[in-house]
Amino acid sequence: MSPWLIGTLISSKMVAENVKSLTFEVPEWLGHKTGQHCDIRLTSETGYQAQRSYSIANAPVAGSKLIEFGVQLLDNGEVSPYLWNLALGDKIEIKGPLGGHFIWSTDMPGPLVLIAGGSGIVPLMAMLREHVAQKEKITESTRDLVLLISARTKEKVPYYIELEEYKNQYPNIKIFYTLTENTPAGWTGFSRRVDKEMLAEIVTGLLDKMPMTYICGPTGFVEAVANTLVEIGINPHSIKTERFG
Ligand SMILES: Cc1cc2nc3c(=O)[nH]c(=O)nc-3n(C[C@H](O)[C@H](O)[C@H](O)COP(=O)(O)OP(=O)(O)OC[C@H]3O[C@@H](n4cnc5c(N)ncnc54)[C@H](O)[C@@H]3O)c2cc1C
Repeated sequence: MSPWLIGTLISSKMVAENVKSLTFEVPEWLGHKTGQHCDIRLTSETGYQAQRSYSIANAPVAGSKLIEFGVQLLDNGEVSPYLWNLALGDKIEIKGPLGGHFIWSTDMPGPLVLIAGGSGIVPLMAMLREHVAQKEKITESTRDLVLLISARTKEKVPYYIELEEYKNQYPNIKIFYTLTENTPAGWTGFSRRVDKEMLAEIVTGLLDKMPMTYICGPTGFVEAVANTLVEIGINPHSIKTERFG
């Protein structure tokens, strides 16, 4: 069983109105695979403990001791407000890497279809970043990657600026947004809940190429998207899901 390790916060930045990217240095970290998560444990002065899971947002780099999380603030939550209020240099307990079913690596064949509900994009960012890192090493890599993220507003799309950079830089990376609450003037993306027509549109041309599909977000979102993908012809065995609860 993995031991609890001490992580020190070394970087904190907003990546959406409601999501903070927090990077911890963990001297005893032995590395992770793309798509894995960690458990975080907080202990109060009275000994009360709270524990939650958080996905890893950074792509693995051999020998790196850094772990990045993307934490959505839940106003009445127990752990996320505490994590948001950490100052640089603060320490927390981290256990991981955990989870073996939601992993991806660049040696897996086929196109990649990534679908996120809100902060469910965090483990998918690790996949996107690993794919981009490989593309920069192997310029002839032509894998198609499609990412769809659903959020209430544009300000709540985590990592929006980074996503736009990839979208503009790499023709084989297609990024789609759907905003379910309100859209800014001139918005050209989708503006409704994820549905069959939307999913069929984003996977156009990929069905025959055996895409690997990763879905992450709230349980209801993940189940609805997975069922709909099967209806439009995606092989159920190629669908991997991670539920944030
Ligand atoms: C594998 C995995 C990976 C995950 N990765 C991420 C990630 O990358 N990023 C991320 O942001 N989250 C992630 N999560 C979710 C995360 O673990 C937490 O569930 C989330 O941060 C909320 O924790 P919290 O302590 O802030 O809120 P909690 O205290 O757990 O509360 C959750 C909600 O319940 C409500 N609530 C709490 N107590 C009560 C009560 N008594 N009555 C009524 N309502 C109540 C709160 O208002 C809040 O809205 C992941 C979960 C899993 C399982």
